[in-house]
Amino acid sequence: MAKKQFKTESKKLLDMMINSIYTHKEIFLRELISNASDAVDKLYYRSLTDNGVILTRGDYEIRITPDKEARTLTIADNGCGMTREELENNLGTIAKSGSFDFKRTEGEQSEVDIIGQFGVGFYSAFMVSDRITVESRSWGADEAWRWVSEGVDGYVIEPCEKETNGTVITLHIKPDGDDEKYGEYLDEWRIEELVKKYSDYIRYPIRMLTSREQLKEGSKDEYETVTEDKTLNSMVPLWKKQQSEVTDEEYAAFYREKFFDWEAPAKVIRQKSEGTATFEALLFIPAHAPYNFYTKDYEKGLQLYSNGVMIMDKCKDLLPDYYSFVHGLVDSADLTLNISRETLQHDRQLRVIAKAVEKKITAELTKMLESEREKYEAFWRAFGMQLKYGVYADYGAHKDTLQDLLLFRSSNEGKYVTLAEYTERVKEGQNKIYYACGETAEKIARLPQVESVKSKGYEVLYLTDDIDEFAVKMLREYKDKQFSNVCTDALDIASDEEKETVKEENTKNEEILKFMKDSIGDAVKAVRFANTLGDHAVGLSTEGELSLEMERVLSKMPGNEQGAPKAQTVLEINLSHPIAAKVKELYVTDRDRLANYAKILWAQARLVSGMGVDDPAAYSDLVCNLMV
Ligand code: ADP
Repeated sequence: MAKKQFKTESKKLLDMMINSIYTHKEIFLRELISNASDAVDKLYYRSLTDNGVILTRGDYEIRITPDKEARTLTIADNGCGMTREELENNLGTIAKSGSFDFKRTEGEQSEVDIIGQFGVGFYSAFMVSDRITVESRSWGADEAWRWVSEGVDGYVIEPCEKETNGTVITLHIKPDGDDEKYGEYLDEWRIEELVKKYSDYIRYPIRMLTSREQLKEGSKDEYETVTEDKTLNSMVPLWKKQQSEVTDEEYAAFYREKFFDWEAPAKVIRQKSEGTATFEALLFIPAHAPYNFYTKDYEKGLQLYSNGVMIMDKCKDLLPDYYSFVHGLVDSADLTLNISRETLQHDRQLRVIAKAVEKKITAELTKMLESEREKYEAFWRAFGMQLKYGVYADYGAHKDTLQDLLLFRSSNEGKYVTLAEYTERVKEGQNKIYYACGETAEKIARLPQVESVKSKGYEVLYLTDDIDEFAVKMLREYKDKQFSNVCTDALDIASDEEKETVKEENTKNEEILKFMKDSIGDAVKAVRFANTLGDHAVGLSTEGELSLEMERVLSKMPGNEQGAPKAQTVLEINLSHPIAAKVKELYVTDRDRLANYAKILWAQARLVSGMGVDDPAAYSDLVCNLMV
């Protein structure tokens, strides 16, 4: 019988498979089982409309038979089978649809891409076989055909004997090499493991005759071989079961095993969608952040299944960065037919699914925030930072999605508040959302400006994480109320009269203040009198966009050690503190002393703001000189 040649494109792919250095060659079994399952599906659906098909669902099976002596692995199904033409067209040509872009097969990286992400169907069997035989009988046909190929130099098709409909694929497994032990694919335990890993949820039983040694009955040392016809797959995926059929324990066990967590998830989310995208999702919000969550080693992503068959372990396109903590999977039948070839269309489908998944996560978090506050606060402690980064990222593109999920500690007993809660209980006429930044809530609470604002009955948000103020600046406002840093803008809560007094004092004493500023040097932008510092003598505020907190964060960033942008810092002196009068007096009586006072006050204001002084020794000398 004359050998037939493969079509050019198929030849290239075949060549790639035969010489594959891909490390997960094991996926070939998944591919063949999926094909078998599709073939059974086709016949099963035909049976629903065609009275000629008398098989019932329970009659279908996929059978795997390893034979170590012959070094063959057989995968048989009783599905629709193939006619001679179908054998020729389906296995002689790949990429019938023509959209498989072969440019991507150049180089090693793209090989990994193609095989790893999509699998390449039937041909992947050539990664582990040096000869493949396919015997098939189409449903209703009275003849059967055999297709045999040893690789690139072509294939042969000839008639054969086959009693029943379906397809039997026999792989002659490659000899073991130095570093590749292909023989493992003939081990029962290995086959079982692979079926569990990739094909556990195939809807038809995948069976294999297994054998094990066991003690003979009544004997202490005599063994016998027991064979068992075993179904290797569990068939019904957890996410296809009715919600009411699955217990919390089952979800938790599934989650722990699949996503390697020792703790049960904080929340289980089920989603079923039909319409523009048909899919099911089973999602988990972990109860704690994985140890590497806030490092670049952490990989986000959901598992992607096509009709119960896993096709990708970490599909990162399914999750936005701000929900990167979510674990779980998406199963979509829409992906089956397109996935290996129509990669573009597949991307569009994925985007639709990703959008829907994102919406669902947002809705579930909102629900948790509204009805399970304590749980949400625990969630926030683990993952809140990620949401705040989300607000800031992409120039604020996601702030509408995320702003109502944010929590802040506040001067209201140090409790967490949402922005909605804050704005609902603002004082009459208050049109700003006040916040202050610092290392801890306790330290912020003691800032002079914060004490003063609080004493007037305003609530203040305490921002303690590096990202906080950047996120708040990105939000700019919430429900028409602008965010306002009390250390910068505290003046606006003073009465008109108070504002007027301060302004007058500052103009009147311009010279004194200028003298003090010059004594301190370039570090300070200006020295001013203020009446927003409560009982404290001095405080710091800033002018312009950059706050002290932002300056601190920026200076810590890589590359900014020397030249980080500086905040324009203002030293404020409390008008109603005796030090104000003292300063004025010294300007007349002893300017040298005033120069030293200015430096000391500046250092003190920095200390109060939690910033440390630049030259502690000089500061200490100044103070001691005053003391003696
Ligand atoms: P894909 O499954 O992505 O279409 P494959 O190369 O795996 O690509 O298979 C090509 C075609 O061969 C399938 O679409 C199917 O029509 C046919 N085929 C493969 N295996 C079987 C089988 N076990 N029974 C019937 N048809 C099959």
